[in-house]
Amino acid sequence: MATGGDHGETVRPSDADWMPPLSRLLAWTLAVGVVCFVVRGLVHADSWSYAMAWPAIAPQLVALLTSPRRQWPVYLASFAAVQIIPARLVLDFAPELGLLATMTTVVAAALLLHRDQDWVRGRSDSLRSWLRFLVLASAAPLAGAPLGVASLVLNGEVGTTGSELLNAAMAWYLSEAVGIAFLVPLMLRWDHYLRRGHSRREVLWFAAMTALTAGLCAAAITESSFVLMFLSGLPSMAVLIRSGIAGAFAAMIVGPATVLGATFAGYGPFAASLPTPGQAMISAQVFVLGAFTMVVMVAAALEDRTRLAALDNASYKAYELVAELTGDVVILVDAEGNVLRRASPGHEILSLPDGPLTKEAWLDQVHPDDRAGRADFPKISGPGPSDPFRIRKSDGTWGWYVVHSRRTEDGLTVAVLRDVTLEREVQESLTDMANTDPLTGLANRRGLAQHAADLWSRARAAGEQVTALFIDLDHFKSFNDLYGHQAGDECLRRVADVLAHLADDSVCVAARYGGEEFAVVLVGCDAPQEFADGLAAAIRALRIPHLGTDSGMVTISVGVATLRPWHTTDSDAEAVVAELLDRADKALYVAKSRGRNAISIYGDDTALRDGAALRDGVVLLGEQVHHTAKHPREAAGGRHDD
Ligand code: GH3
Ligand code: MG
Ligand code: MG
Repeated sequence: MATGGDHGETVRPSDADWMPPLSRLLAWTLAVGVVCFVVRGLVHADSWSYAMAWPAIAPQLVALLTSPRRQWPVYLASFAAVQIIPARLVLDFAPELGLLATMTTVVAAALLLHRDQDWVRGRSDSLRSWLRFLVLASAAPLAGAPLGVASLVLNGEVGTTGSELLNAAMAWYLSEAVGIAFLVPLMLRWDHYLRRGHSRREVLWFAAMTALTAGLCAAAITESSFVLMFLSGLPSMAVLIRSGIAGAFAAMIVGPATVLGATFAGYGPFAASLPTPGQAMISAQVFVLGAFTMVVMVAAALEDRTRLAALDNASYKAYELVAELTGDVVILVDAEGNVLRRASPGHEILSLPDGPLTKEAWLDQVHPDDRAGRADFPKISGPGPSDPFRIRKSDGTWGWYVVHSRRTEDGLTVAVLRDVTLEREVQESLTDMANTDPLTGLANRRGLAQHAADLWSRARAAGEQVTALFIDLDHFKSFNDLYGHQAGDECLRRVADVLAHLADDSVCVAARYGGEEFAVVLVGCDAPQEFADGLAAAIRALRIPHLGTDSGMVTISVGVATLRPWHTTDSDAEAVVAELLDRADKALYVAKSRGRNAISIYGDDTALRDGAALRDGVVLLGEQVHHTAKHPREAAGGRHDD
């Protein structure tokens, strides 16, 4: 029987939109007519068989449920006509009141169920929608049952004693409830079952289970066995599990049809165990309704689970996709520390085992220098990302990552690992650029301040003294004048090259302070004077000709200052370094004022002690210069920098 066809809600309203498509109207009317006359024939043959009236209600209700509401009047009129006219003409029988009762139930059920088109169309087979359907389907016949009983009394089909009326009411109600609750979903989903594609194996399975149902039912009837009848429900369950709710309904039709048919004909356990055929029919219908309700519940619950599984699967795919699009590694850890999910597309990192994430397994992937503070993974302290740390990649290199993580109330932790290797490289090269002098490749003033502050902090911790040297090329203006700026630049580079190789980075930093001035800060130099002396000799050894100096070579003047950590309580490293450089600068001016090509030592951390003239590599101590003196700039008689 066709139940599909036009989808009422999507039909465009037109002038005659209250009129159903003619072919559909005729098909449904014919179906209703045939079913009703078969039922009417049965009722006519046996007065108790009004209990078999239920099939009449189903096609009417399905026709309404699958049509727009505005077309209902036409359907109802057509269904009324097909029942009344032949009854009056052929059977000489007035069915109007009984018909009114049935139609009241049909309209009540249609009004209650029509709204849930998702259920009608089989788009939603959730447990919720099925429970709702079962409740409404068993409520709707209450509307028509009183009228139905009245029609039976008026037609003389039942007596008027209390028990007869009660029996009639029960029979009427049950027959309609079975009609709605059992036959309607069967008709709706059967169509679905047919539309869906089926593999050969599935069809064979369906046929085998249906045959088994029929066999069990036949045995139940010939043996009058309730046990076999109960067991006949099992094959439907098997179909349900394999093919879903629509398949289960399709398989179920055989069982109830056989049970009800046999009971009607006076066979089977119900007919054998109950005194009247009417009571047997009522019991058989209750049995069918109960069995059907059970299958519906199980089916809908299974459907819910399948949908949840599909949803879970979809959300996992979405989760992987998000990880892929963001380029992050996403890790989900439960309250016990088990890794539930891990999406790391494109990241060949974290060769962690499934299951619990042990501290050892995790730390094994982290760079030894970065392990401190990373042991609590995936937890991080405080909001925002962690500090960058290194994780081993599958190619053996280390990638820089930061981790963001959040813990939900139920203990689930989501950790997002972001690869920041590139950002770090860019940042490092920018920092390098910002801290480096482009001409000489030495540190610039910024780089010097940072590196020297670092050295100071470490020296302070180790209790070592720190020495600063301020170096200025002598008569460099005239060098430029004599040899040109290019040669001047080359000269600066050669001097810088000497400074760059004085000592290891971990104890020494050399910088171009500005123009033709350089600064060196070094840790643990026990003989600063000799060190400066060696440096001056090394510059002279470059033998860069300079006709503007006494020696005919490029020479330097050096100011030296030394600070011992135990002589200062100042903990601001940058301020201490600035002060130290300032002292070396003052000493330099003493050296300049003493005729250049000289070394001067700033005395005893607190006082400029000396300007020393260098002659043939020998430093001679001169007279004391007090630290209370005017700035040596003034003492030297002019500005030293340009
Ligand atoms: P003094 O012995 O007193 O230090 O004399 P000076 O000529 O070296 O000192 P002054 O400060 O008068 O001149 C410094 C010169 O250094 C001036 C400038 O032309 C030169 N200079 C500064 N920076 C550069 C540079 O980057 N390249 C070149 N070629 N020369 C520079
Ligand atoms: Mg100079
Ligand atoms: Mg200068």
